[in-house]
Amino acid sequence: MSGNCESSCGGCGGSQDTKQEPQDLKKQLHPKSKIGKVIGVVSGKGGVGKSLVTTLMALEMNRRGYKTAILDADITGPSIPKSFGVKGPVRTQDDGVIPPKSKTGIDLISINLFLEKEDDPVLWRAPIVTSTVNQFWQEVIWEDIDYMFIDMPPGTGDVSLTIFQSLRIDGIIIVTSPQELVSMIVSKAVKMAQMMNIPIVGLIENMSYFKCPDNGKDYKIFGESHIDETAKQYGLDIIGKIPIDPQLSENVGKGTIEDYPVDVLKEAADMVVAI
Ligand code: ADP
Repeated sequence: MSGNCESSCGGCGGSQDTKQEPQDLKKQLHPKSKIGKVIGVVSGKGGVGKSLVTTLMALEMNRRGYKTAILDADITGPSIPKSFGVKGPVRTQDDGVIPPKSKTGIDLISINLFLEKEDDPVLWRAPIVTSTVNQFWQEVIWEDIDYMFIDMPPGTGDVSLTIFQSLRIDGIIIVTSPQELVSMIVSKAVKMAQMMNIPIVGLIENMSYFKCPDNGKDYKIFGESHIDETAKQYGLDIIGKIPIDPQLSENVGKGTIEDYPVDVLKEAADMVVAI
């Protein structure tokens, strides 16, 4: 490599001492877009409640009066529009794509909105997935958004890394559940965040407990969680614990998540405002 080098970098052992800046891979937003803070929501695997947390965070910020958006980057398992009852087709104009709004005014984009049938499977390889997410970032007109939440693909693999490299992300929320190997997942997410130099807002434990409607007691259905030790080990904050709530899954299933009455993520929203 150094044979072709015109101005060698410090790390390659070349003779010149001019340092090469790290390549900026960040994609530009659409010229008409304006986004305040961007928060990526990650999990170790699918089914943990990452999309639900993304949705509840957006609801909480929207209820506080912030202009809020969700970019569904979980291209192979998109579930955001369904929980809001929002359907395609998406309106496009000459210079860009207009994101549909939910009932309470949250701007949404998801591959689901572009599919002929919303339950058509998306069987794409990683480069297509990441270029679709980049298009959602660059070609959608995100007008005056205060907070955008990105529902990341599950896991901390290549696709997530590429997305983190390409988009301007200000903070990461890690979602776990008590039945997982929390320590391993958090350790991977922390490494990824360090590589990208993005702060971790905190950990949210989903399906933490079940509140019995008959006696009001909390039951740990999946046993004791290890999230407190893990958070301490990595110096992270636990910013929310969400119970298993049949009402939640009913609202998600019916596309009426905006009617869900409980504010379970107030502390997490405070932390997002604070970054
Ligand atoms: P992920 O995005 O991690 O794949 P989802 O957020 O799509 O997971 O959640 C998977 C399923 O579990 C959804 O049907 C969702 O409604 C349900 N679910 C998630 N968290 C809860 C909860 N705390 N109480 C009840 N149902 C939940």
